Amino acid sequence: MTIRPIRYLGDPVLRLPTRRVRRVNSDIQLLVTDMIESMYATNGVGLAAPQIGISLKLVVIGMPDENPFALINPEITKREGTRVVSEGCLSVPGYSGSVTRSERVTVRALSAKGERVHITSENDLLAQALEHETDHVNGLLYVDHLNVASDIRYMHPRGDDQSDDEDMEELDDNLVEKSNRE
Ligand SMILES: [Zn+2]
Repeated sequence: MTIRPIRYLGDPVLRLPTRRVRRVNSDIQLLVTDMIESMYATNGVGLAAPQIGISLKLVVIGMPDENPFALINPEITKREGTRVVSEGCLSVPGYSGSVTRSERVTVRALSAKGERVHITSENDLLAQALEHETDHVNGLLYVDHLNVASDIRYMHPRGDDQSDDEDMEELDDNLVEKSNRE
């Protein structure tokens, strides 16, 4: 098991198109194990492959006090209702934003054993995570869903990462674009 470093906003890999997983083999299962470790190492409840620099349609989710699981080639097949939720992302550390998500979400995917799964969740953290992580494999981040700049808040100092300025420039650009659209 290896903890993989997290890629941050500003890293192009977060925006690249991802490839479908063709075969759920031992390489993929090893990657799933690494992703789960990496997710827990950063106290996340979800992690998508692009966040560790791998352009594959693969995510892991680990709700508090529940067993973590992988979703391979996840696709949202149904969305119903809307609700405003507070959201953060391991790739945008230190920030939290208000975004509009669905009340009820259904995802179709393969499990880490290669079995077809359908998951439906409603009005909870899992529903939010299903949309957030599926966004990641489509090159989207939650900051893309912000309506106005005031929808995002800086929560705590980010530490000693040297690429702070560049990352925050992309965040600023995102918000400026959104504001212009208002
Ligand atoms: Zn994220």
